[in-house]
Amino acid sequence: MRTTHIPLVMATSDPSEAQHPNLVGLSRAALAAELAAFGAEPFRARQLWHWIYHRGATDFAAMTSLSKTFREELAAHYALCRPAVSRALTSIDGTRKWLLRFADGQEVETVHIPEEERGTLCVSSQVGCTLSCTFCHTGTQRLVRNLTAAEIVAQVMIARDALGEWPSPQADRQVTNIVLMGMGEPLFNYDNVVEALKIVMDPEGLAISRRKITLSTAGVVPAIRRCGAEIGVNLAVSLHAVRDDIRDQLVPLNRKYPIAELLDACRNYPRASNARRITFEYVMLKGVNDSPAEARELVRLLAGIPAKVNLIPFNPWPGAPYECSSEAAIGAFSNIVFAAGYSAPVRTPRGRDILAACGQLKSASVKLRKREPQPLSAA
Ligand code: SAH
Repeated sequence: MRTTHIPLVMATSDPSEAQHPNLVGLSRAALAAELAAFGAEPFRARQLWHWIYHRGATDFAAMTSLSKTFREELAAHYALCRPAVSRALTSIDGTRKWLLRFADGQEVETVHIPEEERGTLCVSSQVGCTLSCTFCHTGTQRLVRNLTAAEIVAQVMIARDALGEWPSPQADRQVTNIVLMGMGEPLFNYDNVVEALKIVMDPEGLAISRRKITLSTAGVVPAIRRCGAEIGVNLAVSLHAVRDDIRDQLVPLNRKYPIAELLDACRNYPRASNARRITFEYVMLKGVNDSPAEARELVRLLAGIPAKVNLIPFNPWPGAPYECSSEAAIGAFSNIVFAAGYSAPVRTPRGRDILAACGQLKSASVKLRKREPQPLSAA
């Protein structure tokens, strides 16, 4: 039946399946093309989409709306697999962290943060990170590679597996929100992130709406513009300082895209509105960026942007060169921003005991190749 071979990403840790291309993680178009090449009618691709992304099927035999013969043919040619979970940890506060291992042995972490009214899944976009922000643990890990779209989508599916959330529920979900705030800079892996998010947002599959998805960036200005126009998810920006000389130190990407340029891109972010504000993340580092004068300058800089501020107490990691600001300093900073009319909640650290809090993610993956992915050129 199969006529043409389209090479697909092998994403399995099960050697018995390693010869077969994996269907999990394909976009609608890629799945349709694969099935067409296999000789199946177009509606088959839609049925498989439903089984894979709505029902979470991990076995062709479970796809009872397909004939037994067709299921067997599929099983003989394709795999339906997830990356391996090489470690799963649960914090005393209920936060869960999964270390995922991909077919090539590289690993990333995914974190689920349950709250009263919602559950947020923090997804990684790269193995390691090239940004080298000096306060971030992931930044001390040398980048190995971008994740494929399938590997990004797989993080959502693994969480749904572990939380027992299949078929994709309409209400009372444990994964209500997705934040691209795990390992990596999502806008340095733009194409794969966009493809993955389109799969995740598809209403007939994982069905997580763009309003519930937030992409966090250190400030890759040309890609911010594209992101707003092409996928329109919520934007979070890791600002962390109000002066270029300090931000140059904390977020070295600032030397390429300084604060004024970054804020200009935010001011023009297409979907930003008072109902969908841009989040400005600001890590609180004792004696570095946490003075009342800096809070006032932050307010001045944000004028004209539909913004909210998220103050993140610095999460320590072994060998980190910073300390967290005092509660009093964080409170005073927050009050100034709040008095100027911006919401300025202090992000409660979650999962610190399992090193799952912001900036604590790091896998043991090591660099395999010298070549590093290039940041997007100006679009
Ligand atoms: N590269 C993207 C995605 C990472 S998001 C970005 O920079 O936005 C992770 C968030 O946690 C970022 O705001 C990051 O700056 C922040 N962060 C990193 N290390 C931290 C630490 N040790 N303590 C608190 N926040 C940290």
